[in-house]
Amino acid sequence: MVTQIHKIVLPTPFDVGDVNVYLLEGDSLTLVDAGVKTEEAWKKFNEELGRIGFAVSDIEQVVLTHHHPDHVGLLDYLDKDIKVIGHQHNEVWITQDNDFLKHYEAFFLEFFTQSGIDPVFLSFLPKLKSTLKYSCHRSLTSTVKEGDFIQGLTGWKVLETPGHAQSHIALYHEQQQLLIGGDVLISHISSNPLIEPPQSKYEERAKSQIQYNDTLRRLLTFPIKRVYTGHGEEVENAHDLIQERLNKQHERAYKVLKLIKEQPRTAFQICTKLFPKVYEKQLGLTMSETIGQLDYLENLGEVKIDSSQQHWVYYA
Ligand SMILES: [Zn+2]
Repeated sequence: MVTQIHKIVLPTPFDVGDVNVYLLEGDSLTLVDAGVKTEEAWKKFNEELGRIGFAVSDIEQVVLTHHHPDHVGLLDYLDKDIKVIGHQHNEVWITQDNDFLKHYEAFFLEFFTQSGIDPVFLSFLPKLKSTLKYSCHRSLTSTVKEGDFIQGLTGWKVLETPGHAQSHIALYHEQQQLLIGGDVLISHISSNPLIEPPQSKYEERAKSQIQYNDTLRRLLTFPIKRVYTGHGEEVENAHDLIQERLNKQHERAYKVLKLIKEQPRTAFQICTKLFPKVYEKQLGLTMSETIGQLDYLENLGEVKIDSSQQHWVYYA
């Protein structure tokens, strides 16, 4: 059965701009992702649904590509009976689990201290969580993992695609060679390998850049005609774009290596060199980018970490 795919573009208050959600007409009416929780997005969503010939009450299930607020927020406006399906790792975020949020703060405080962040900037920690007001308080009704098929969505297979988020999945239609990719690949910007606290304090943080590269390389093994993306236009040349993203990231990492060869530095010092204009405003994002390059270089054996002091220092 050929699934009809309707793209709906919704506004967000974030720098990334609009977010795309998709209405899939299969055996069930499935919504993939659910925009931010704002009145504006909700209004637009209803208008667009009506334009396609549906109402909110027709939606039977929502599949989440990942837990970020711009992809889940409108769940709060949807009927409580609607099934919510996603990777297990969404749960602590979309329920805004209190213990997890405490652990989240403790994790970032320790992590940023190790990274050598100027204490002045530690006051921004509470701001990290401020985007959660655009998220939701919902719970998954069922979880999916690699290789699963979702009821009512014949032909679409779940691929685990971690990197941008630990909860990230994509839906792949083998026959039609289509991918509903969330934020795994975006045509006009590169996806940020965001640093996340591990699900419990007993685990190590994931090295998201390395995970993300593995995800991209894995996607090269699937024939893909089109990617329906979480932001911007569809991607028609997925394999070329993936190669370009991988190459660019490698180049960026070697610029970082040059800085470290000049002199050993903390992650924060490198971040201020890489993003002199935006690091103050976008500390979370720019530090994730920086740590991504450092994890990558460490993984290649190009840099080592001196963790004997409070602030960790990277040296070549
Ligand atoms: Zn995202």
